[in-house]
Amino acid sequence: MKNLPETKLDKIVSLCKRRGFLYQGSEIYGGLSGTFDYGPLGVALKNNVKNLWWKMFVDDREDMYGVDAAILMNPKVWQASGHIGGFSDPMIECQKCKKHFQADNLEDKNKCPLCAGKLGAERRFNMMFKTSIGASEDESSVSYLRPETAGGIFVNFKNIIDSFHPKFPFGIAQIGKAFRNEIAPRDFIFRLRELEQMEIEYFIRESDWEAEFEIWRKHMEEWMDAIGIDRSHVHEIEVPAENRAHYSKRTIDFEYEFPFGQKELYGLAYRTDFDLRSHAKGSSVPLEYYDDATGERFVPHVIEPSLGVDRTILALLCDAYTEDEMDDEMRVYLKLHPRIAPVKAAVFPLLKNKEELVAKARLVYSAIKSEIGAVIFDDNGNIGKRYRRQDEIGTPYCVTIDFDTLADDTVTVRHRDTGKQERMPIGELAGFLKKVIS
Ligand code: ATP
Repeated sequence: MKNLPETKLDKIVSLCKRRGFLYQGSEIYGGLSGTFDYGPLGVALKNNVKNLWWKMFVDDREDMYGVDAAILMNPKVWQASGHIGGFSDPMIECQKCKKHFQADNLEDKNKCPLCAGKLGAERRFNMMFKTSIGASEDESSVSYLRPETAGGIFVNFKNIIDSFHPKFPFGIAQIGKAFRNEIAPRDFIFRLRELEQMEIEYFIRESDWEAEFEIWRKHMEEWMDAIGIDRSHVHEIEVPAENRAHYSKRTIDFEYEFPFGQKELYGLAYRTDFDLRSHAKGSSVPLEYYDDATGERFVPHVIEPSLGVDRTILALLCDAYTEDEMDDEMRVYLKLHPRIAPVKAAVFPLLKNKEELVAKARLVYSAIKSEIGAVIFDDNGNIGKRYRRQDEIGTPYCVTIDFDTLADDTVTVRHRDTGKQERMPIGELAGFLKKVIS
């Protein structure tokens, strides 16, 4: 069989494994489909994304409250939200090879795309992971791993009101894991069974929903600019009523041009007052806002920007992966924004066997590491090889300590994207790095 050319996604997957960004979950046991483990560089990149989101949408605002709710919730939550009844995908099983397919993705619903066998009838498949709580395993012990973080926000609405008496409008934000028993997990970390979400429920008056929807659409665009997702690769698609979730009166999907097609990156939905009303009914606890100023009592409506952390990482990697030629050699580099790059700077002594260079480089390394954190020391191989290694993981700056450094306390700072080098006093390094990553 002829070898197929490596696709861009293959190259990204292989770089991620080789350099410690992402590994197949449970790999030494043959893997577990739909799960991935983040390695040291992957977790650094992911934390930078989550921290920036939290800073932009929680810390830098006065109207936002963060929560970290339990993943296991009372099953009545999912009864009220409609997930037990309706969180399902159409599934078809091949009668010959027994593989399962998401019916909407099949071109021919009669013939198996893998073995050409006859396909069975379409049936609904609930995507929530069932588990049981406690020692007995009867119906009363059934619970679910949450399929979205939003549930944990709605059940804490009253707690936030009681503890903080927020002014209206206000939002509740959460970052956390969600679980979906996807029929066909695929495309690296695009469709996972264990995923992470960054979600906000922003509580508004019904009369303001159209204006608030526009405000949140802009915030999502600002977010993509802040982390460095190229917006020319993102398309905002109005979701027609028949494809919207049961609770939504308007949804926009932010679709990104992934190497395997244009697919949903984020969603923005107007969920009306569906959730608060349903949970108030399900729990018999009124979920209302009382406005001191006007004496009004009402059930707020909600705008929900919903962002997948893993799809964010994948879009960032797709935008960042670049091949070019430098010094007559092919090179691969990740053009990540310095703000989210897992390593901000690498410090090198020009020569490994010159004690005074190594000692000085160690001093510079410790000084900037204590201020910036994500800095590494490397004295392995020649300088060219060290540059290539850092390029491949997206380190924006390499700092070299040479013989001139010993005389005048200046270093060479090399820029990842252009390969340009500049001389800089050691005393200015930390300030320079702080400025470019802030
Ligand atoms: P899709 O249509 O691709 O299945 P969805 O419409 O079900 O996605 P939402 O329920 O709106 O997705 O979830 C909010 C966000 O969570 C999505 O925009 C996406 O970023 C992320 N997400 C959803 N499902 C997955 C998954 N299986 N793996 C990774 N991320 C996911």
